Amino acid sequence: MDMPDAHDDSPLSEVQARIAKACKIARREAGAVSLIAISKTHGPEAITPLIEEGQRIFGENRVQEAADKWPALKEAHPDIELHMVGQLQSNKAGDAVELFDCIHSLDRPSLVKALAKAMDKADKRMPCFVQVDVGEEPQKGGCPVGDLPALLETARAADIPLAGLMCVPPSGIEPAPFFALLGKLADDNGFDQLSMGLSMGMSGDFETAIMLGATHVRVGSALFGARG
Ligand SMILES: *Cc1c(COP(=O)(O)O)cnc(C)c1O
Repeated sequence: MDMPDAHDDSPLSEVQARIAKACKIARREAGAVSLIAISKTHGPEAITPLIEEGQRIFGENRVQEAADKWPALKEAHPDIELHMVGQLQSNKAGDAVELFDCIHSLDRPSLVKALAKAMDKADKRMPCFVQVDVGEEPQKGGCPVGDLPALLETARAADIPLAGLMCVPPSGIEPAPFFALLGKLADDNGFDQLSMGLSMGMSGDFETAIMLGATHVRVGSALFGARG
């Protein structure tokens, strides 16, 4: 990971310092964890200062919102990576492939099919995390744990580059067991230690997630302040 030159007292430098400290405690290299700045609900006036501080990976949870905000920002800063972290409707797969560089919410065979078709059409293969419904909360999206092996097989057969697994644990209870479960599922499903990505951890729990192997943390409010 390249270390942006954030100001010492900015929210970005604070989050970076907390990530570095968690990596040190976990005996992991500081570069082992990518920070994704989740900018949903925030406009360019809030995003641009972070870009100027050196942040390059951003995430959004809605295709339409990303389409409104990001083409102009990406044109000005072509090295930005944009990640889709929200539930994705199959009929938006084409737009998502155009707009984003990585998808964290692949969670069902119909979406594998739609994304594979959109990637073929755009001649662009993009890495996807498979979202797992670790807390049995289908309304949040995510593949049921029992369906994961079959979904991974479907995605591999469709030539979707797999980045690893993603989860959003239930709110209001200790997240660590769910992070540990996601790590175990990655182990059990043939992601080897080198290629295995784990997208887990948000503003309230990213240090815990790092202790349990997170490679991508998705941090919104700790960087941008509370959403309205
Ligand atoms: C909003 C969101 C985040 C960031 O949440 P914060 O608590 O603001 O850090 C992370 N992941 C997903 C999927 C989100 O929708």
